[in-house]
Amino acid sequence: MEGTLAIGKAWILHRGNETGRCDGRTLDEAFVHETSRLKEYIESSPAPEVFSAHLEILDDPLLHDTIQRNVTEGMTPAEAVKAAAEEISGMFNEIGDEYFKARVDDLNDVCKGLVEFLEGTCGNPFENLPDDAVVVARELFPSDMVEMNLGKVRALVTLKGSPTSHVGIISRSKGIPFVTGIDISGIQAGDLLLVDDVSSEVIVNPTDSQTEAFKYRMAAGDDIPEIMRRVVTKYGMRIFGNAGSVKDIEAAIKSGADGIGLFRTEFLFLDRDGLPSEEDQYKIYKEAVEACQGRPLTIRTMDIGGDKPSPGLNIPKEDNPYLGIRGIRLSLSLPEIFKEQIRAILRACAHGKVRMMLPMVTRVEELIQTRALVRECDASSDLEIGVMIETPAAALISDLLAEEADFFSIGTNDLTQYVMAADRGNASVSYLYDPLDEAVVRAVKMVVKAAHKKGIPVGVCGEAASNPEFAEFLCELGVDSLSLGSPALIKSLKHLRS
Ligand code: PEP
Ligand code: MG
Repeated sequence: MEGTLAIGKAWILHRGNETGRCDGRTLDEAFVHETSRLKEYIESSPAPEVFSAHLEILDDPLLHDTIQRNVTEGMTPAEAVKAAAEEISGMFNEIGDEYFKARVDDLNDVCKGLVEFLEGTCGNPFENLPDDAVVVARELFPSDMVEMNLGKVRALVTLKGSPTSHVGIISRSKGIPFVTGIDISGIQAGDLLLVDDVSSEVIVNPTDSQTEAFKYRMAAGDDIPEIMRRVVTKYGMRIFGNAGSVKDIEAAIKSGADGIGLFRTEFLFLDRDGLPSEEDQYKIYKEAVEACQGRPLTIRTMDIGGDKPSPGLNIPKEDNPYLGIRGIRLSLSLPEIFKEQIRAILRACAHGKVRMMLPMVTRVEELIQTRALVRECDASSDLEIGVMIETPAAALISDLLAEEADFFSIGTNDLTQYVMAADRGNASVSYLYDPLDEAVVRAVKMVVKAAHKKGIPVGVCGEAASNPEFAEFLCELGVDSLSLGSPALIKSLKHLRS
């Protein structure tokens, strides 16, 4: 199946000189050069919006001021740009949110372009890319995707990066597997690589039998993990998709998803200075439900706060934001803003099947208060309201929540971090961050039992649902649906259903 498995020879990306020497070019020239380069990319890229975001960063006074300050302190222009990139990335990373992490990639890409111009190393490093290459790099940037002849690329393998980065988005749109988080230090140019984007694995110089088995999966057009096949055919599991945009919804529905199990609406609040109005939100929810073509759309109310601050909401800084005013707590503390979102969701109901889902619930009262707000907006509404089970409290009182909720969706990303007391973004405690840990499994079992006792459906929308082994285990536990964050797995549905 396109986009998830590839075999090829390793081609190692070596970037130009890293001496930091400047050949006399000025910063002004570098900015002019980078601006015109980005404009060209906007014309030719399959994802022009990526480079529009780059242009905005290039114009950002924060970048200009930081570079200028570094120059005043005695750095060469190239050094000043590198130091500015590091400083601003640090600030964005500290925010810890996916949106800002994605901005770090953009910032680094823009600064890379400036530095390459200043150092006179801006030739295309992919000029001699051979056919059937698996590009192996420490890190890739969206501009690399434009410079590479993608027709020659079988797969991308990097040490740094995230599957949800712009590089991931572009490679997926081109059907090229992209696996990140791989220790590339032992890979030599020309090594044979088997790349599996579903399990995020790369086998270096495989044995003959490994290669044969891999080729068999590819040739059969059948690289759907066998487990996923069983999940759908043996257990009859309903498979939804997770989405952060209408585009994600269109892709999931096109692949045969049964609907959308998690539409993350906070992105509407994170990427702008002010707040989206009821009308702004309605337009997007309407488009989203229409894109579902009669299948259900589960709109999660804004999961803002803590690690996802919204510039428009002026949330006071908290010492421990993961345990602060986040998700439903924030929404209920700002009822007028929450009601705008509720009204937009209620209006979208006229265009298809919509369900509303509440994040970070810890008490039954939060659901009851939300229902009251929904009634204030529309006394006759029969909108289904579900609860995300992603805190230990919600799991422990799932029997009580089941009395009030129309459905449950288990958010294993947060449930794992809160049950295990292990920050989901902290590599030092990643050994504890395991959704298959007995403590998390017990919580899941408890929730499934409580839901079924009350006769309400329970799904899983955390990333663990996209881990085929965990998915099968969840089937055995009696979960009714999975909502997958992995576009590759969702794509595999097309083959299962045809
Ligand atoms: C979860 O916590 O599992 C979840 C789906 O929510 P998010 O990843 O958006 O916090
Ligand atoms: Mg969550």
